[in-house]
Amino acid sequence: MIDYHVHERHSRDAATALIPDYIAVAEAQGIKEIAFTNHFITIGPDVDISIKEEEIPEYLADVRSAQDETKVKLLAGLEVDYFPGQERRLESVLRSHDFDFILGSTHYINGVDIGSRTQAEGFFQGRAIRKAADEYYMMWKRAIESGLFDVMAHPDYWRKYLHFFGKNAGWGDYGSVVIEALESAAKEGVGIEVNTAGVRAGTGHFYPLQEFLLAAQEAGIDTVTVGSDSHTAGTLGDHLDEAVKQLKSVGFTNLTTFEDRKKTLVPIDSMFRRAR
Ligand SMILES: [Zn+2]
Ligand SMILES: [Zn+2]
Repeated sequence: MIDYHVHERHSRDAATALIPDYIAVAEAQGIKEIAFTNHFITIGPDVDISIKEEEIPEYLADVRSAQDETKVKLLAGLEVDYFPGQERRLESVLRSHDFDFILGSTHYINGVDIGSRTQAEGFFQGRAIRKAADEYYMMWKRAIESGLFDVMAHPDYWRKYLHFFGKNAGWGDYGSVVIEALESAAKEGVGIEVNTAGVRAGTGHFYPLQEFLLAAQEAGIDTVTVGSDSHTAGTLGDHLDEAVKQLKSVGFTNLTTFEDRKKTLVPIDSMFRRAR
């Protein structure tokens, strides 16, 4: 089992999450690889939860020195927010350091913070959900085509707060742009993640929906990872066996691991943890 979406203390919204605590949980639960993916946010209201650019060497050194103490494979990465116009800055930061894995995220769409309960409602107001989803996937597609990212995090994050204002979205509400975006990801070799935090957020399922995974598989995407999106060691590995099972059920035969930003396909059946 691998957990490819994990925040540690350099993400300020995970200030108490320490690498040794994650290692202890991984060793106890049979998790073989952890990819740390701290927030890197260059503009907007949430820059204060981002790792600071000048802290990146210290963060990388923390991961590398922790590796000497454990057999759990530790990878150093980022969860980078995509903003149109920031591509050159992001490219320069990503090139300047030895990262293993880069998640791309779209938490902010044309100035709206989808991860804020108050702002998310406005994103949907006065239009069909599929119109909002189209706007989301246009940005998501741009992020994919930027060439900056290995895998796109929580591919239907836009639905995070729908249930708070009494709405729900099925696959029919995902709009028309999503398929083009998935085809683009397949062409560019950019992957998608199954992120189990959706269950903790109360949406009742992982990000993304099962039908999204099926569409991704049909579009030819072969790069998939799973992640708990932990901001504390207690949730490491959360529901990941179910996430792998779901990927297998829609026809994926491999999961993808990364090192030095190069990918390796690993048979999906080798990912299940043995009953303990
Ligand atoms: Zn995220
Ligand atoms: Zn995250």
